[in-house]
Amino acid sequence: MKWSFKIATVAGTEVRIHITFFILLAFVALQGMAGGQGWQGAVDAVLFVSAAFVCVLLHEFGHVFAARAYGIRTPDITLLPIGGMARLERMPRTPQHELVVAVCGPLVNVVIAATIYLLLGVGLVMNPEYHFEQSGRFWEKLMAWNLLMVAFNMIPAFPMDGGRVLRAFLAMILDYGRATRWAATVGQGIALVTALWMLLSGNVSPVLLLIAFFIFMAAGQEAAAVTQREETQGLTVRDAMLTDFRPLPANAILRDAVDLLLAGTQQDFPVMDENGDFSGMLNRHQLISALSEHGASHPARAVMEVCDIEIPAHLGLSEALETLSATSCHALPVVDSVTGRLVGLLTAENAGELMLVKAALRRA
Ligand SMILES: [Zn+2]
Repeated sequence: MKWSFKIATVAGTEVRIHITFFILLAFVALQGMAGGQGWQGAVDAVLFVSAAFVCVLLHEFGHVFAARAYGIRTPDITLLPIGGMARLERMPRTPQHELVVAVCGPLVNVVIAATIYLLLGVGLVMNPEYHFEQSGRFWEKLMAWNLLMVAFNMIPAFPMDGGRVLRAFLAMILDYGRATRWAATVGQGIALVTALWMLLSGNVSPVLLLIAFFIFMAAGQEAAAVTQREETQGLTVRDAMLTDFRPLPANAILRDAVDLLLAGTQQDFPVMDENGDFSGMLNRHQLISALSEHGASHPARAVMEVCDIEIPAHLGLSEALETLSATSCHALPVVDSVTGRLVGLLTAENAGELMLVKAALRRA
């Protein structure tokens, strides 16, 4: 993730902190100071928020270690002001495994709260005068924080852990795609009802409204991703790639690219090197902005995008589309796995067209 930096590596997983997290700390310190206890208030507030985020981190490691038991690695965890984000290599596809991985995060918070309760003998206080931003009562607040994390994460909506738990249960009786769509619909329903209830009761909390919106979008995305995976099953890059394209030679200038752009419908132009091998990609957007900046006789190779990801034609389409969406490149070069020659281009639009054709044929 951009604007984040590594603070540690634990058991092969990088722990990263997003820069905005420090804005949160500064904000919390200011709030603590305004509480009336001056510097002491600021120190207390920062200490508490830091401890709270250590719990967030431990929660993420609950998922990480559970996933690892099933052979799934986690390259990194990023701490954001809104919480932690563990980037698992892939999600477990067996419902039982997904259930365990999802539950192990909140389980860590239950263990922390129980430890505070048992070891320190701190009881839970939940009354209206109770505020997180007040100084003191450190352990009590930390215990409440952990229990809130459990409650929040177990909301049965994607991308919360509860959404995954719900899908795992549904996937035990339905197929994976249908289970995901059902779970996504439940999540969107909860988000919608929460937002409507807030608006109708006039009791609008901007933070909650934002979270409801975020959940609604994330649930839709999860369902769309699974549908795409189902539709691309059994298809390879070769089925979806663009093969009718014109490359630009190594010595091409921007005017050559303009000629190609105007002559046909091609939007992405692979640029070759002196040996006729693929060296980079120039798309319509880059071409237009380079034209206004450098003029038509500027070399194309100087402004092309270097996509260092080349995909083989026999690669599964769903995996290739995931790679495509993870890069900033608009089109990925497809190479022959034997000769290493450029044989096609993969774009999201072309893959989308293939899906439309498949759907139309299914209906016929
Ligand atoms: Zn979690």
